[in-house]
Amino acid sequence: MSTSSFNPFEMAQKQFDQVADILDLDAATRALLRYPLREYHFSIPVRMDDGTTQVFRGFRCQHNDARGPSKGGIRFHPQETIDTVRALSMWMTWKCAVVDIPLGGGKGGVICDPHNMSMREQELLCRGWVRQIAKNVGPLSDVPAPDVMTSAQHMLWMLDEYEAIHGAKYPGFITGKPVGMGGSLGRKEATGFGVIFTLREALRELGIRPEDTTASVQGFGNVAQFAIQLYEQLGGKVICVSCWDQEDQRSYSFRRKDGIQLEKLLTITDRFGGIDKAKAQDMGYEVLDGEAWIEQEVDILIPSALENQITADNVHKISPQVKVIAEGANGPTTPEADAIIAERGIFMIPDFLANAGGVTCSYFEQVQSNMNYFWERDEVLGKLDVKMTSAFLAVSELAKKRNLYMRDAAYVISISRVAQACRDRGWV
Ligand code: NAD
Repeated sequence: MSTSSFNPFEMAQKQFDQVADILDLDAATRALLRYPLREYHFSIPVRMDDGTTQVFRGFRCQHNDARGPSKGGIRFHPQETIDTVRALSMWMTWKCAVVDIPLGGGKGGVICDPHNMSMREQELLCRGWVRQIAKNVGPLSDVPAPDVMTSAQHMLWMLDEYEAIHGAKYPGFITGKPVGMGGSLGRKEATGFGVIFTLREALRELGIRPEDTTASVQGFGNVAQFAIQLYEQLGGKVICVSCWDQEDQRSYSFRRKDGIQLEKLLTITDRFGGIDKAKAQDMGYEVLDGEAWIEQEVDILIPSALENQITADNVHKISPQVKVIAEGANGPTTPEADAIIAERGIFMIPDFLANAGGVTCSYFEQVQSNMNYFWERDEVLGKLDVKMTSAFLAVSELAKKRNLYMRDAAYVISISRVAQACRDRGWV
């Protein structure tokens, strides 16, 4: 979300400009890649349960599709803005390019708060979103997916509406569908597991054994939960997680110095990734300020909630013990904070590399949907590991070879690939 002092699109452009300079990109390519190719703004009227009609604002941005159809999630959030959607669509372009899948970047959103909407109202909102944009999205042009506060159920309603409009089955139109209804096994784990595949490689490079490490995680939703699961399987210990508290309209951190107990904590977590703080206290957790996750004495930080979380104001709170930051969320670190993290020599696994497991598995889902033949979970996760590991190694090799910060190295690879595709197509 953007605020008066933080604009994610300006941040995404700033990051792009820095790398455009490193690559010495020509003016036309810069002008093309600094903005989305297309964006759509629309209104979605929904007949609410109380009989009134509420009109929601919806967006879709297609940042670049030179390498393949646009791909990106749809976010339901009360503070959604067009600049957030623009930034996220741009990050999707780089993300698909860094893991080298044949897709471009897109993103969608609706300004709404699903906490305050019934499932029926959410279904109508999903169907309304598709009706407004049905001619401009599709399996060969732009393929949506879930994001913050949207789920497999939302995707299925959207698919159903799209198929009703077009009069045929198009399972490749959308990803993140329920397993058994065109979804891929492994998709729900994919983003969190992908974060940990890259973390595993980073630790290997640093000569650190995962079982000797501790971590603190911001967020306790889809990405965080599965990242924690795999990290613990590798032997690591998470001592702190945080989440948004809907009732109090603020965030809290939950610390257990002996290590959180994932399975037990999940029993007191709602479907939005919110933890019941009274029950957590009963289970022996210290309930701390929302920002406490960042100042823990751990080896690894995994911000997996939202953008704009590690800023110039709180970056100094990061403990000297921290060696690696793996960005599960999109855009959690502002450029000002990033410069300080780079200076401190903390190993950064940048968002569009670390969390690319989601889109990579979405791509696998699309492939499976289009051929109507579905793979076993192990096959999906094995292929995911190969993709994530090779993407990580390509970035870290370039970083070492050209003495670049990991984020810049990842950008150099992505932006070169996309710029090349634009040139090859004769666009610039
Ligand atoms: P989610 O809705 O499942 O979970 C979000 C979590 O963050 C919840 O636990 C929520 O309580 C917490 N949260 C929200 N605001 C917070 C705050 N101010 N402080 C602390 N915690 C807060 O979302 P998700 O799917 O896990 O996505 C998390 C991030 O990862 C987002 O930036 C998203 O764009 C990104 N991402 C998600 C996927 C995916 O496949 N789900 C893929 C790539 C990137």
